[in-house]
Amino acid sequence: MMGRTHALTGLCAGLALAPAADTTAQGALVAVVTAGFALLPDLDHPRARASRLLGPVTGLLSRVLRAASRWLYARTKGPRDEPHTGEHRHATHTLAFAVLTGTCIALGTWGLGTWFAAGTCLLGVVLAADALGDWVLVVAGIAGTAWWVPGYPVEALAGTGLWLGIAAGTGCLVHCLGDALTLSGCPFLWPLPIAGETWYEIRPPRPLRFRTGGVVEQVVVFPAFVVVAVALAYGAVT
Ligand SMILES: [Zn+2]
Repeated sequence: MMGRTHALTGLCAGLALAPAADTTAQGALVAVVTAGFALLPDLDHPRARASRLLGPVTGLLSRVLRAASRWLYARTKGPRDEPHTGEHRHATHTLAFAVLTGTCIALGTWGLGTWFAAGTCLLGVVLAADALGDWVLVVAGIAGTAWWVPGYPVEALAGTGLWLGIAAGTGCLVHCLGDALTLSGCPFLWPLPIAGETWYEIRPPRPLRFRTGGVVEQVVVFPAFVVVAVALAYGAVT
């Protein structure tokens, strides 16, 4: 699935979560952070948006994640797993990675406080804006400004650990579900052994799969999720 479709499906998931947040501003941040973190698993691909975002910094992170994924694949593959490097669409494309990411963000916010939370929000906003356009910066700017109203200072961000963790983990999981609809599938249930594979690519029946960046994704899937996002955003603010 393309980066912008991942970010859009993440935005839809975040908008579905948003009404449960304490305030509209908090809900907007949850939506944008979910959208941004829906791009994170593709850090295991050197040419993905997330890997190119901050030049050498995210490039190095991509290199480390690819090496870790390669290592994990070599040590945990089942007897019927295909010969593969184990880099792209492996370790970062699992439910385990989504849970680990969400837990780290939640614990990091509780332990390190405001600046860790602000950094997480900023990363989510920049990733989402890179894929979906500058309007994300406007929405994030309005949500951020609302945060500064008296009685709800920036320090309150430190109390959003649970929500930021849920947003980050949900974004990663939505990414896996999106990739599972493509021709290659996604081994997101690792390490559960299925048919002799611990990295079994989950995917729907062949007629329901589509090619990453193909006509179906561009003409059907992306526009359909634009409609879903607009409907959810309308529902969240009315
Ligand atoms: Zn992916």
